[in-house]
Amino acid sequence: MRFNNRIYEMKDAGTDVITMSLGEAFFDISMPSFEGMSSASLHHYSHSRGVPLLRQKLAKHSSVDSGLTVDPDSEILVTAGSKLAIYMALTAVLEPGDEVIIPEPAWVSYPDQVRMCRGVPVMVPMHVGYEDLATYITPRTRAIVVNNPHNPTGRRLGEAELRSLHDLAEKHSLFLIADEAYSEFLPEGEQFVTTDQFDPERRHTIVCRSMSKNYGISGWRIGYLIANRRLIEQINKLQQHIVTCAPTILSCYLAENYDMLRETTRPQISRVVDLRNRMAGELAARDIGCLPGDSTFYLFASLGDSRLNSEDFAAALLGRHKVAVVPGVGYGGTCDRFIRVAVGAEPEERLLRGIDAIASTIAATS
Ligand code: PLP
Repeated sequence: MRFNNRIYEMKDAGTDVITMSLGEAFFDISMPSFEGMSSASLHHYSHSRGVPLLRQKLAKHSSVDSGLTVDPDSEILVTAGSKLAIYMALTAVLEPGDEVIIPEPAWVSYPDQVRMCRGVPVMVPMHVGYEDLATYITPRTRAIVVNNPHNPTGRRLGEAELRSLHDLAEKHSLFLIADEAYSEFLPEGEQFVTTDQFDPERRHTIVCRSMSKNYGISGWRIGYLIANRRLIEQINKLQQHIVTCAPTILSCYLAENYDMLRETTRPQISRVVDLRNRMAGELAARDIGCLPGDSTFYLFASLGDSRLNSEDFAAALLGRHKVAVVPGVGYGGTCDRFIRVAVGAEPEERLLRGIDAIASTIAATS
């Protein structure tokens, strides 16, 4: 966010910045029209678990994804973005002093959200595989947070990894908080393997999803949680005291136009994921390695032989070439040899200029 603010300031001052730092993809979607919808209800609070029609649509979509039924009346809660969904999930399950296992690279908000719940984030270094997470479990461990597909690497968890995470959760009575904010950013023809697929009774899995990235509407602040009835009841109490409900007018619009929005964004998602994978090739052609991944619109690119740490590298890139990326250290102390490159907000020709600038900054600082 510090980098983004600097970029906003540079742009305001008239500087042309190639923005490969932004955490969203820009889609071409039509302006919402509320014409014909009942204004009597649109302007007011709505059901704290979410507008019923939207819950039905989301439950249906999720059921198709996982092959599991989601009860729209008791197992789903719509809220003001998945950031809040994750925070409320953590608040619901943590007692002060409880530990939460967070594998690096980790999205910046997880450790701070855990601290805000008086919990203790246990960061797992990036070279540790999911199969070795058990070594981080203590009697105080309460939950594991996973992000699938993953920001910043673009990696999807495979069935074997998901199964072993569930075995771990079952064996040690842990919650598995699955952040699936990028659930639809997959290569063409790929089917998403959702986390709750391996926990059909939803004994320990809390899935947090978002409209922000999948439908290019991050400013609408709508996301949702899927969990068992008891947890949803508890999380609903938090929701009632924090935001009352997700934005009513936008929830109603989404409910009415959900299928249209998905159809509009699906081909655009395919294009951006394809672009991501082509840019991985462009980085590789310049000897810049990335952590494995094929989904989302992110690449976690290695700084190779550069002497600079990720913050200094990002600052040099911005200062010398007016190219913005995110320093890897934001994703954990073990990620300082990487930068996050996002391809969702710039046309291909500018991305290529940005990649050339990354390559020449690595060469100039090696
Ligand atoms: N999870 C991840 C991994 C993210 O990258 C983001 C946003 O950048 C979010 C969750 C939060 O998204 P939102 O609150 O807009 O749904």
